[in-house]
This record gives sequence, structure tokens and C-alpha cells, in this order.
Amino acid sequence: MKVLLVNPWIYDFSAFDFWLKPLGLLYIASYLEKQGYSLSFLDCMDRFHPALINAGIKTLEKQYGTGRFYEEEIKKPVEIKEIPKRYKRFGIPYSIVKQEIKKEIDSEIILVSSIMTYWYQGVSDIIKLLREEIPKAKIVVGGIYPTLLTEHAKKESGADEVIPGLNFFPLLVKLGDGEDKKFSPNDFFNSYSPGYHLYKKLPYISLLTSIGCPFHCTYCVSNLLSKNYFALSKEKILNEIDMYVKNYGVYDIAFYDDALLYNSEKHFLPLFEEIIRRDYKVRFHTPNGINARFISRDVAEVLYRSNFKTIRIGLESSQENFQQKTGGKVTNEEIIKAISNLSEAGISKSDIGIYLMAGRMDESIDDVIATLRFTANLGTKVFVSEYSPVPGSCDWERFKNFNDLDPIWQNNSISFLKNGWTLEEMQSVKDIKNKINNAV
Ligand code: SF4
Repeated sequence: MKVLLVNPWIYDFSAFDFWLKPLGLLYIASYLEKQGYSLSFLDCMDRFHPALINAGIKTLEKQYGTGRFYEEEIKKPVEIKEIPKRYKRFGIPYSIVKQEIKKEIDSEIILVSSIMTYWYQGVSDIIKLLREEIPKAKIVVGGIYPTLLTEHAKKESGADEVIPGLNFFPLLVKLGDGEDKKFSPNDFFNSYSPGYHLYKKLPYISLLTSIGCPFHCTYCVSNLLSKNYFALSKEKILNEIDMYVKNYGVYDIAFYDDALLYNSEKHFLPLFEEIIRRDYKVRFHTPNGINARFISRDVAEVLYRSNFKTIRIGLESSQENFQQKTGGKVTNEEIIKAISNLSEAGISKSDIGIYLMAGRMDESIDDVIATLRFTANLGTKVFVSEYSPVPGSCDWERFKNFNDLDPIWQNNSISFLKNGWTLEEMQSVKDIKNKINNAV
């Protein structure tokens, strides 16, 4: 049976390739390949796709393999037509994607991945195109969007089947293939690796060394996406890194774990001591943020010695009542101590960035400016995450102000407008952030 795996475009006001790869789809690809399926793969967000290069399209490359996506302006959806910003389709141009899909006419099953709920129009547009070009194929959509908004995905995506959650085994049975067996996330993620061999060019990869998170922050749905935290086997991760570095010439590896440093004595420290011993010529990055609570002196030294170049730390707010009521993942004292440990270990403060949140209905602009002041005193960079409400999170249930709005309003570039913030206020927060970063 021939399966086509598709990672759709991003539809948004802005997007940047911060080591973005469709990890879930790549894990499923490895599984299907081992079961004997014949696979084709189309990642609409692949900045290094041969068809882009053949068309003479080169996008701006930034540090460590990151860079800009190709973009095409598209009509703004009616729900957000008043927003004074340009709306775009990011990724390989529509006409090239269409040509690539035409080559896959013999596909019998098409698996489409998805990430953000508010990118759903990119999902439904790619499904529409796939349906036109390969009318006989069964189209299935999975990923975070159908997990969080299952009914919406059933109604709006245009797919024949929708997979919420991680377990895709029943779907294979439904499609007339595979046996109905129990899905164990632990076994699955420890048995398969992301199928990066499906890419023609690969300057960087994203990896997971653990699944899930032991914390329960009220703005996050990590616990919905994976019920339990578990670390992956050290040997498996080392084999993956070995393979990608030696066989694919990868220079940059980004970890997308939700809790990379949790239980570091048993997981992060032994794993990275071995990575240091193997002396890979690669740079490591933590775009998803790591928890300052676990950045002990030992952890900081290992981060330095193993060549972590992008260190992002989640603070969200320096307001203590905010920290307590949203789950207590970190305190200001822990942040200060972590930065001091990282500095003493030799990591430059310009390689460290603190994430803070802006645009919530329970934090005013003054609260956010107070957090910016706190981070300015640390001497590190700071990055503003515009808060976006995630369906199924505790905050979603608590505030309820997005329940009746189209999911497009869950976009972090605009959701603050429904939380009592103005575009000007958000811009002034970003201006202060830029000043801090320029000084760093
Ligand atoms: S620590 Fe991070 S990943 Fe874990 S629940 Fe909180 S925000 Fe989510």
C-alpha cells in the first residue's frame, strides 16, 4: 500500500523556521516503513526542497540553520478581515506543491499532519488540493489541531478520517490494514526514530529525548498531548545523533522536549556526558525553553561543554502571584540562580534568552513591563511570547472568552486583542524588548 505523508503550509501573519520539523509525522513514517508500506513525503515547509532550488527560490538564511520561509500573501479570512496586518501562506509556493502532488497520483492513503489549531486553513487547503489531484486516496489528518479540536477538524478539514491523540493504530485497522494492537507511547517512541532520511537536504534536525511534562501550567496542554512524562532510552538517542551527524552531515540539533532537564541526574546529565565524550561537531539548541529550576551548576557546565548555543528559559512573568496561580513551574530566585550558574559555567549571556508572556487578560501592560525590567537586570536576551489561548488548557476553561470565537482567533499575533490589549500596547512591549536585546 502506498502512503503519502504531507506536512501542510502555515497560514499566519508571520512564521520563521526556528528548526521546525513535523516530528510526529516523521515518527509515523518510520513505523509505516518498517511495516512494509511504500512511502512518499512532501513537507510544504521544507526550505531546502529540491523543487524550490530548481525554481531558483532561495530564502534568507539566519543563524544555525534557521531562516525565513518563502511566503505568498493570501486573502485574509473574513473572521479577521479588520486586522491591519498582511496574512500569508508560508512554505513552498502553491504551484510547486501542486506539481509535486501530481507525481503522487498512485497514493492510496494520505496522512496530513497539523500543529497549531489556528493554522487549520492551511490543513483544509492542502486537503482540498490533494482531493482534486488524487481523488481515489483516503485522506487522514492527525496532530495537535485534531487532538485539541476534534469536532472542528471532522467538520472543517475535509479529511476522510481524523486522528485525535497519539494512537494511530485503530486508524490503520479502519483503513483495512494492520492489526488492532495496544498502543504504548513508551514502546513506540523508544522503538522508532523520526524518518529524516525522507529529506533530500538536512542542515539541522529537531529531536526529542523525552515525551510529556511533569508540570501542569494552566496555559499549557502538554498533559493533554501526552498523559505521562517519560524519558527515551539513552542508547536510542545516541544512535540517532550518531546516524544524523555521520550519515547526513547535520550541524545543528534542536531539542523540542517539554522537560529536557527534568530528573537530570538520571537523564540529561548521563546522556550529555556521553555526547561530550563522543565529541560531535554540532551545536545544540533549546527553542522550546528549559526549566531554570533544574539548571544546577552541574547542568550548566554540561550545557556549556556540549556546545549548547541557543538556550531559552521559560519565565513567563516575574509577578509572584502569577507564577503561583499558573502552576508554579519557576520562581524569580530560581531564574537568577540559573543565569548565574550558566554564566559561571562560561555561557555567554547573549546566548541565553528568557521567554515572557504578554497579552493575557489577567496581566496588564505594567505587569509585563515589570517582568521586562526584571529580565533587563539579568543581562540576558528576552523574547516576548504573545499569549494564545489553547483549547483544553485550564486557562481556556477558566476565562472562556474564546469559546465562541473561530479558532483563527487563537493565533498569538491577534488573540491579545480579545484580552483587552491593543496593538499599540503589544508594540510598546516589543520595543522595550528590542532595546534590552540591543543592549545585550
Ligand atoms: S513546564 Fe512547560 S511544558 Fe511543562 S506544563 Fe509548564 S509550560 Fe507546559
